[in-house]
Order: sequence, then C-alpha cells, then structure tokens
Amino acid sequence: MICLSASGVSMRSKYVIICHLHELTLKGKNRGRFERRLYKNIRTQLGGLPFKSVSNKKARVVVAGVDASLWDRYSSRLVGVMGIIGCSLMRITEPTMENIREVVKDLVSQTSFNSFRVSSRRSDKKFPVKTPDINIEIGSMVQKLSGKPVSLRNYDCNIAIEIIEESAFVGMNKERCFGGLPVGSTEKGLSLISSGLDSPVASFHMIRRGMQLDYIHFHSAPATSPQSIENVEKLVDRLCHYQIESTLYIVPLLKIQEKIMKHAVDSNWVILFRRAMLKLATKIAHKNRINVLVTGESVGQVSSQTISNIRSVDHASDLPILRPLAGTNKDEIMELAKKIETYNISNLPHQDCCTFFLPPSPETKSKLDLVLMDESKIDLGNLMEDAENNTEIKTIKYNYEEAT
Ligand code: ATP
Ligand code: MG
Repeated sequence: MICLSASGVSMRSKYVIICHLHELTLKGKNRGRFERRLYKNIRTQLGGLPFKSVSNKKARVVVAGVDASLWDRYSSRLVGVMGIIGCSLMRITEPTMENIREVVKDLVSQTSFNSFRVSSRRSDKKFPVKTPDINIEIGSMVQKLSGKPVSLRNYDCNIAIEIIEESAFVGMNKERCFGGLPVGSTEKGLSLISSGLDSPVASFHMIRRGMQLDYIHFHSAPATSPQSIENVEKLVDRLCHYQIESTLYIVPLLKIQEKIMKHAVDSNWVILFRRAMLKLATKIAHKNRINVLVTGESVGQVSSQTISNIRSVDHASDLPILRPLAGTNKDEIMELAKKIETYNISNLPHQDCCTFFLPPSPETKSKLDLVLMDESKIDLGNLMEDAENNTEIKTIKYNYEEAT
C-alpha cells in the first residue's frame, strides 16, 4: 500500500519513517552506544535512497525527508537492520484531532482494504484525547467513509496514529523487522559455513544478537564440484543484507582429508575432519582477533551431532563455540531460512566436503582419548600450513542497488 498525495504535491517533506526499537529499550546506561550503532547501520542501509536525517524520538528512530513513493525500497532495506522490530511510513502533522482526521481521510481515500483497525499511541499525555477515544472517533469516521468493518484481529489495514511530543504521525504501511541488537554492538565472530541449510540460519541468529560475522568455508575441490563454493558465496552475500559486509575465507581441505582417510580408523574420519576444520578456523580467528566460533549443529539432528562427538570436536579449539541451533528442530530452522531468504540457495545442489567422504558407519559415541590417539598417529603439520597459505580471502558487500 503506497499512499501518494491526491494533490500531487511532493510528499518528501510530509512523510517520515518511524522505526520501533526492540530490546534496546531495556538497555541501561550503555543504551547510547547501542543507539549510535543503530543510527549508523540505518544510514548505511539506506545509502543511495533519499532521506535527510536519522534521529531519536521517544524510543523510536525517525528517518525524515523520505520519498513516500519509494516505500517498498526503504522497507526492504530496513528489514535488514537488526535492532528494530518494525518500521512504518507515516505522514506527519500538528497534533490536533482535526489534523489527524484530515490526514486519515486523505490516506483512506487512496487505499483499498476489506477491514481495518485503528491503533493509536500517545506518548505526549498533554494531548487532550485518550487513546481509546482516538480509536473510536477515527474508527467510526473511517467506517462511514469506506463502508468497511472494523476487525481488531483479521484486519488488512492498520491505521496507526502516534502522538509524540509536538507532532502527530499517521500511517498505514508497516513492515515487521527482525528485532535483536544492532550489528557491531557485540564482539565479532567467525562462522563455519557450509552450503547446507543450518549454518546460514545459525549465522543469522548471531547476527541478530549484534554480531558482525566473518565466514569460513572448507571445500574438497577438485574431488567435489566447485558448486559448494559458489553457493556459499551466494549465502554470504544474502547474509550481508543483515550485516552490510563481511570477509569469507575459503579453505582447501582435500589433502588433509586424504591423509586422515589413509591413516585413521574410518569411523573417526568425520570427527577428525571436523577437528582439522576447527583448528584452522581457530588459527584464522586468532590472527584476526576474533574470539568466538559459530556452527550450525543441532543436537541429535544427524548421527555425527551427538554430545560425545561435540566434545571430541570442541577439544580441538581453545575458543568458545556457539551453536545457536543446538536446541532447535528442523522445521523451525527451515521456517527461518525461508524468512531470511537463504532457503532456496541452500537447496541448490552441492557436495559438502564431510558428507562426500562419509564412511559406512561413522562414530556416534566417540571417546575423546581414542580420537586423540588416532589423531596423534597422523602428522598434518605441513598440510595444515599449506591449507592456511592457500586460503582464498574474499570481501563480500551487499549490493543494495542490485537488490532493490
Ligand atoms: P549445515 O546444513 O550447516 O551443513 P548440517 O546439518 O549438514 O549443517 P553437518 O554437515 O554435520 O551438519 O555440519 C555441522 C556444522 O559444521 C555446520 O553447520 C557448519 O557450521 C560446519 N560445517 C560443516 N561442513 C562445513 C564446511 N564445508 N565448511 C565450513 N563449515 C562446515
Ligand atoms: Mg552440512
């Protein structure tokens, strides 16, 4: 629903976008730091679109000087800003009931809907009409004008009215956002990303906790097709919509895997591959002053993701390893993958470096001491160094102009 002026007057000065903060409102003394980061992220996301200023107004962020005809483009960019729970395009007017009625009339005359509701908020208690009375008065006016019923639950048009300090804001266009904390407000992380479904969703969970992520992907080319690398690049590009830019480390693992397969008990292969991955990821993290790793494991989802195996794998790194999907189900993961638009990319055909060399019966209840004993028989020293030296490093930035 885009509302343009019936009079054809430029709408830029009359419209603002109001972004509602999520849990930032619960922050205490350090709230200013989080807010400054949020404003910076909003400005970056809106780069190239017209706007005059981004400022704070009573637990909301107001983006002023916007062009209402570009609302779809603003909203699709703002969905990528972590820390806001919703954004609305709103007309701004002096706070009187007469003005509010006029703006609502104008908006209603340009919009079609089947049922509606009015939801008003009044942070300026000096405004003489209480919110239930605003809802009733405006609601009955809209009912008469449109002939459509009020429906508090199943509405397709929400007329939002907010009275904040010396202004009243009226709007009908609202987009839900992901909430969380602004990216960059938490320390950085390094996410182990495959081209599967889980690791991009795990990464998104941490981005939503304010974490700027770099990514690391291991491949077995030329034994496997380069498709997994291409898919991972597409996934990181998509995830950059939520975190603006990132570095992707692409590490060749084949030679290490071949040596492990030659010398280790086959049931331990996957665990030893994973330990090698974690050791390399840890090295790259330390080099780049990153203090945490992220993976997409979900307890019990596949036979390799048992607690015993997680313990045997974790032991290879001195960094904390976050597994935001540990307690989630596949359908929950799929639902979020669809929302963040990684689902279709993850479903593209690919060969993962670990599953490609899956032994007939992988260990599901590994014992750390036996894994370490098996590992100690294999000298991976030079191969680990080679893998690190042959790592390809790519900077990936979200391309806003292409996307909207
Ligand atoms: P995903 O869907 O993320 O591939 P999965 O259910 O297939 O997860 P596994 O293959 O057991 O699970 O991998 C567990 C985790 O190990 C992944 O979520 C990811 O964090 C990491 N991982 C697996 N393969 C790779 C890879 N090729 N490169 C980087 N990390 C990987
Ligand atoms: Mg996988």
